Amino acid sequence: MDDQELFALFRKNGYKATTQRLAIWKYIISRDDHPSTDQIYQAMKVDYPTISLGTIYKTLHLLKDLGLIQELGFNEGSVRYDPNTEFHINMICSKCGEIVDYESENTKKFWSTILSELEVKVNGHRFDVYYECDDCK
Ligand SMILES: [Zn+2]
Ligand SMILES: [Zn+2]
Repeated sequence: MDDQELFALFRKNGYKATTQRLAIWKYIISRDDHPSTDQIYQAMKVDYPTISLGTIYKTLHLLKDLGLIQELGFNEGSVRYDPNTEFHINMICSKCGEIVDYESENTKKFWSTILSELEVKVNGHRFDVYYECDDCK
């Protein structure tokens, strides 16, 4: 999705299209490490020193609302953001919290098999696997 398409989608859904919102979206899709709210906030402050945490939260909420990102909440209270909304496995290090995506032909086959068995309209999905990453082992 390019900038114009994103702006059009914002407006169509009654959201203001601002450069800050665009920058937040671009930052999230540029990352494959599932950034936290604070990471996004710190990164945005480099180019937008006056940006507020409220703007970050509002933007994350609307991106989620538009189905462009997935919010991953965890028991200990942390929240991470995932721009990959296709079915995939989040490989989560139980020590350092690093998250990387795993996708393969088998995950696709698995998910399409489950979908055909469920016979419901699926509104969302999440598959987490915990392990110890190479740095923590
Ligand atoms: Zn680790
Ligand atoms: Zn993921």
